[in-house]
Amino acid sequence: METGERSIFSRIIAGEIPADVVYDSERIIAFRDIAPKAPVHLLVVPKTEQYRDVVELAAGDPALLAELVATAQKLADEHADGDFRLIFNTGAGAGQTVFHVHAHILGSPDGGLEEG
Ligand code: 5GP
Repeated sequence: METGERSIFSRIIAGEIPADVVYDSERIIAFRDIAPKAPVHLLVVPKTEQYRDVVELAAGDPALLAELVATAQKLADEHADGDFRLIFNTGAGAGQTVFHVHAHILGSPDGGLEEG
């Protein structure tokens, strides 16, 4: 893939753009969202740039999707109170802006997220 076509997340994974990384394994990275919408707002991102959204990931590598969900629980245990929203915006009309599959973890360290 040409450099110009790479997603912002691929550039974070490559270390070309700084990020507040909270988790880094062979196949998954997680970092704080630059514009948090909850007290805890993390992005969990498969390192491969092969899948643009969760539907493609589920079809192409369900084990990696399962690993991503398990990682989300681990991070919610560590950074929030263990409960969390897991959001995959899928398609521009739903608000997806980065077409490199990623999950948003929204949580709170002291229990309870506002409704909505
Ligand atoms: P989407 O709208 O595609 O579901 O989510 C993309 C998310 O990436 C947004 O919440 C946005 O704030 C976040 N984001 C975009 N650029 C950067 C960046 O350079 N660094 C970090 N940490 N987050 C980013």
